[in-house]
Amino acid sequence: MFGRFLGSDLARVAIRALGRLRRKEELDGDEEYAVERLLSWLSRVGGADGNPLLDEVLDETQREFLLSYRLPESEADSTPGGSAQQRSRQYILPARTPRGSSLPSLAAAPAGVSGGMPAADAPGLPDVPSRASSEEVEADGSPELAEMLRKLDDWESFDVFRLAELTDGRPLQTVALALLRKRGLIARLGLPEDRLRCFLSDVEEAYHGHNAYHNSCHAADVTQALGAMLAADSFAEHLSDLEQLGVILAAIIHDVGHPGVSNDFLIRTQSEAAVAYNDQSINENMHCAAGFKLLAKKENCFLCRLPAEDFRYLRRLVIRIILSTDMARHHDSVEDFTASLRLWGPHLLAWAPDKRVVALQLLVHAADISNPARPLRFSSEWGRKVHEEFFAQGDKEAALGLPVSAICDRRRASVPQSQLTFVEYVVRPCFSALAEFAPTFVGKAQPHIEAAQHYWQQQLEREQAAAAAAEQGTGAAAEEEPPEVAPTLQQLHLHAPPQQPPALPQ
Ligand SMILES: [Zn+2]
Repeated sequence: MFGRFLGSDLARVAIRALGRLRRKEELDGDEEYAVERLLSWLSRVGGADGNPLLDEVLDETQREFLLSYRLPESEADSTPGGSAQQRSRQYILPARTPRGSSLPSLAAAPAGVSGGMPAADAPGLPDVPSRASSEEVEADGSPELAEMLRKLDDWESFDVFRLAELTDGRPLQTVALALLRKRGLIARLGLPEDRLRCFLSDVEEAYHGHNAYHNSCHAADVTQALGAMLAADSFAEHLSDLEQLGVILAAIIHDVGHPGVSNDFLIRTQSEAAVAYNDQSINENMHCAAGFKLLAKKENCFLCRLPAEDFRYLRRLVIRIILSTDMARHHDSVEDFTASLRLWGPHLLAWAPDKRVVALQLLVHAADISNPARPLRFSSEWGRKVHEEFFAQGDKEAALGLPVSAICDRRRASVPQSQLTFVEYVVRPCFSALAEFAPTFVGKAQPHIEAAQHYWQQQLEREQAAAAAAEQGTGAAAEEEPPEVAPTLQQLHLHAPPQQPPALPQ
């Protein structure tokens, strides 16, 4: 596998760039990316110094150049409290974002959520087991995959289902690594990429592949959506590196370990998770805890070099963002954001430091519910998948002798009606609230939301026409079939004003 990487096109680009002995700043984007991949590969196979495979393709001068590239001054000392920490503070946050004691005052982490930051250990190349990851996928280098990763920010063409095929079921780690790299966070924050890859690989495994919807493909989709938002509009320029890492990390782990059933189901069945989290945002609390537990594994702890204060800040941020993905908080999230927007306007720099998290929460929530804002060929597929999962829950409810939730009842629920409700009363208000804050992204999304609404309206009319024809054709037998129902807010456990029509969970 390692030899294959060195023979890949990516490695050839890196070696050609090194051959010219140019400084990092003189490389073009593709060359810089290729050299970073080479360095990443080297960190896994034992470094550039005396590597027999590399000896064949680089002379001594080129190898020395590569080593100097590997350890720029800002990364040479990663000991917490050392000089690198002082330097890192210059690039972790932009100039006008408050630091130190004036960090945004996030609420304390909920009790019972475990996962702390292991102490930073020796700097340098960590001793971690090699395992299959997006690294090999990239090394094998299908041109289609390379093209997809180059267009990672593209809202129109990104196809997460195809990405899952191309990466042999590893879309999440592929998207996450590419996004963190693309935004320069790995380099600027000095994140050890081998640990990051191990973490991402574990997270992807912890998503349940048997869920029709809440699997790692959904997490990859949400992570890419967030990346597309960050790339499209200028607000991202005013986010600190820690804030950017916070939203991306939250997107990556926001549904990890999802059991494929709703919070309501977990409460009704008196599940262990419901008891552990006192019936409060059970799944969301569980995702947070599961994500941080994976991060706490020594071989996964890619945040170990962050100053302790920065880690605590990042952890509080990620927890708040993930808890806000609970659909029961949807209306509150939109209202909080809208109120802040009215008060301070669309430029994030004008927002009170402790309110910036409100914007970050809504961004990740919008990414989480962005299916109908995708091109129709993707949004219709996501609509089908989410209902497949709902119906699987309905089957479990029936098997347990529980009343079957309206939206989960495969005999009665109408997929088009549910999707229309979701688009109209959940997705539209959220994206409308974001329109002033992220105008370019919302401008791309809105035509697709219109198209999705039109499509599901047509599907609903067809479904109703078919039902009417069946009723006429079968007479009394048809009359015995229960009528189609739309879910109520109570059934869906959304906290909405009573005058609002029903909406759907995600
Ligand atoms: Zn989700």
